[in-house]
Amino acid sequence: VADCLFCSIAAGDIPATVVREDDLTVAFRDLDPQAPTHVLVIPRVHAPDVGTLAASEPEALVAVARAAAEVARAEGVADSGWRLVFNTGRDAGQSVAHVHGHVLGGRDLGWPPG
Ligand code: AMP
Repeated sequence: VADCLFCSIAAGDIPATVVREDDLTVAFRDLDPQAPTHVLVIPRVHAPDVGTLAASEPEALVAVARAAAEVARAEGVADSGWRLVFNTGRDAGQSVAHVHGHVLGGRDLGWPPG
């Protein structure tokens, strides 16, 4: 999708620190990390948010979840615990309209969030 930052990262047109990729997903480090591990996992296909992706490309959403778990393992936080966050819409602070899961870990994440 033209003018989509994360489509451009998935295409390799904008640089990012990619930690994992496969046919359906790309995972890269967040520019402004909020935890020792903060990786974004995106589907290559464009969808504005997680609900839209679930409806239109459910296999891509499963691939995002699988990639997130593999990133958590590779980052060494699988045993200590980690969180997969899909900010959706204004009140959640979603700032990029291409669905992305935040993989967060490496510290006590607290609850409730926000
Ligand atoms: P959200 O606020 O949930 O939409 O998350 C968007 C995230 O993308 C934020 O955590 C930003 O720090 C991150 N971000 C924005 N631009 C880039 C970029 N070029 N490379 C990596 N992360 C980015």
